[in-house]
Amino acid sequence: MGNDNIDQQIVNEIRFFDFVAQKIWPRVRWLFGSLITPRCQRCTISSKVPEVILHDGLCNLCQAHEARQNRAEQVWHDKYIAHQAKELDQLLKDHENKGRGRWDALVLFSGGKDSVYMLSRLKKDYPRLRLLLMTWNNGFYSKVALDRAKEIAAKLDLDHIVFKPSSSVYKTLYRYTLQNVAMKGSYQTVDRLDGTLNQFLGFYYAYQMNIPLVLSGVDFAQELIMQFHSYYRMPFEDMCSRTLLDRMERRSGFKIADIFSEEDQKLFWDGTGKDKERIPQYILPLLAWRPDKGAVQGELERQGILPKRDSSPILTNNQVLGVMTAIDIKTIGYCSFEPEFAEMIRFKENDPVYWRNVFELVELAAKQRILLNKIISKVLGKLGLTADQVGLSRNAIRK
Ligand SMILES: [Zn+2]
Repeated sequence: MGNDNIDQQIVNEIRFFDFVAQKIWPRVRWLFGSLITPRCQRCTISSKVPEVILHDGLCNLCQAHEARQNRAEQVWHDKYIAHQAKELDQLLKDHENKGRGRWDALVLFSGGKDSVYMLSRLKKDYPRLRLLLMTWNNGFYSKVALDRAKEIAAKLDLDHIVFKPSSSVYKTLYRYTLQNVAMKGSYQTVDRLDGTLNQFLGFYYAYQMNIPLVLSGVDFAQELIMQFHSYYRMPFEDMCSRTLLDRMERRSGFKIADIFSEEDQKLFWDGTGKDKERIPQYILPLLAWRPDKGAVQGELERQGILPKRDSSPILTNNQVLGVMTAIDIKTIGYCSFEPEFAEMIRFKENDPVYWRNVFELVELAAKQRILLNKIISKVLGKLGLTADQVGLSRNAIRK
């Protein structure tokens, strides 16, 4: 059976999981009360997350968040955003039709909702900005997202490259990181390396092709959590040094020299000694725009860009997510993506009902070994790993 076929089966199984989570789980949740960890009523965070304490159904993080939302803070915040939006607008205008080569900006284009929204707005507001879309095919991204990325690029008639590094790169990354998640959780380890490498490939390619801007659809809460900053532009000195790579190594606890061949290590961006004239600026437009996520969905559906059926976030995500979640629940008792998603919910950038359903059902599924098993074994099969090697076999005892 070819990988295409397996990928389609994985899509079908995730679609089924999503259906159960959203349509069936809410009706039967009450039957499983004792098997599911209590969660915050507002942001849905699991009470198993360290330092989370529920009080009257509300977590301490939501209470702290609310305390910060006073009026003076809001005025300052709005001004800060308005300032960023103005600066970004100028920056994009200044780059329209000004690139040294064929393109002014490389758009990291996953086909996910945020990147599609970013693209539609760039096209509308900066029509002379010459864009090159770049999508990764690492062999493990959602087939739905990849097909959609191609379809949208064709529909908008933009230059588009699908960058597929040799299979050793991502396979090596997942194989190594999945076997070394330990108590850090997969979010800080597997997902951090994966997400950072995607950015780095964009920098690498833009540098090679002499493209002055790299635009990413990472949103505000994601960036705040990943890099601890909420500014739409990455400091240029960070782009000109090893800072970003150092940060990734520090947070994940991994050294790329321990994982990758010398040649593949070069894909991880290190600006040291590079020609500063060619180093791209890294821009996160959504941090300055702060679109309302509900409005984004509606707008994209109206424009016919995003079919509603396939807009489910878990369907357009990475196939490896199911494995990561199962490892997390087994080792730390909660999915390590929850703190980020809960934070996004606090900032109204994510739908609490949707994610509560997903996180609860995924916890039950991982504990009871239902619903996720087929997906997990297919993904592990693609990676050439056994359940034992990642600590997921029935009798596996983890360090
Ligand atoms: Zn909360």
